[in-house]
Amino acid sequence: MDKEKKAILRLREASEMSLSFYEQPLIITYSGGKDSEVLLELAKRSGILFEVHHSHTTADAPQTVYHIRNTFRKLENEGVKCTIEYPAMSMWQLIPYKLFPPTRLIRYCCTTLKENSCKSRMIATGVRWGESVKRRKRGIYEDINKNKDKKICLMNDNDEKRRLIERCEIQAKTVCNPIIDFTDEEVWDFYSNECQFHNPFYELGFKRCGCIGCPMAGKNRITEFEVFPKYKEMYLKAFDRMLTIRKERGLDTNLGWQTAEDVFNWWIK
Ligand code: SF4
Repeated sequence: MDKEKKAILRLREASEMSLSFYEQPLIITYSGGKDSEVLLELAKRSGILFEVHHSHTTADAPQTVYHIRNTFRKLENEGVKCTIEYPAMSMWQLIPYKLFPPTRLIRYCCTTLKENSCKSRMIATGVRWGESVKRRKRGIYEDINKNKDKKICLMNDNDEKRRLIERCEIQAKTVCNPIIDFTDEEVWDFYSNECQFHNPFYELGFKRCGCIGCPMAGKNRITEFEVFPKYKEMYLKAFDRMLTIRKERGLDTNLGWQTAEDVFNWWIK
């Protein structure tokens, strides 16, 4: 069976689970990036009833923000319920609040800005094993439970294991990752040739779509800040406020942070 058909079957299964356990349609999480675009297109092809949800991060590129609004307008005209959730704190407020810039290892921004949404619902994401080593540990179905001992993570479509989830009478959020086994090439191919909507952000030459300055973007951040200098200014202002609060509280680091530029240079490396 090809991967498109497999993903559609997974979406149909997830939809059934969502309707029977939560009595609500499956939520397609949508970031405006290529993976969620592929997921959205597959959800349409699967014929299931679904809603679409986006968590506004406050640090996405303007192209992505406008692309999401346009896509949602078109989907709503087709009768699909779409929600944009705005966070209680922006990235620029979060940094002085946390007293440290977000890093690859401490990505508090994702937890605060993205992962707190869609509680007590079943969601589908565009997470893929090909994206990172950490994501290779993720399964097709996941029960988001704070208690790690109670967390369920299924690595295949095995019916017996699916029943395990069904018996749990899940209260918390459950996740399905229908395109988890798609490679980068397969995603790009499907995105370019089959998807209805395309984010103009990629036309700027970027291969990864996310917050500008995301610590997961590695060296691409240097190019991102060249293309979007206003975002660098906003990070510098946030670092400046962070340093003021750190000084007021008598907090010191061995990292030689005297100015916002010092923090930025440390962070970008
Ligand atoms: S900067 Fe990266 S880690 Fe933080 S919210 Fe944005 S995408 Fe997630």
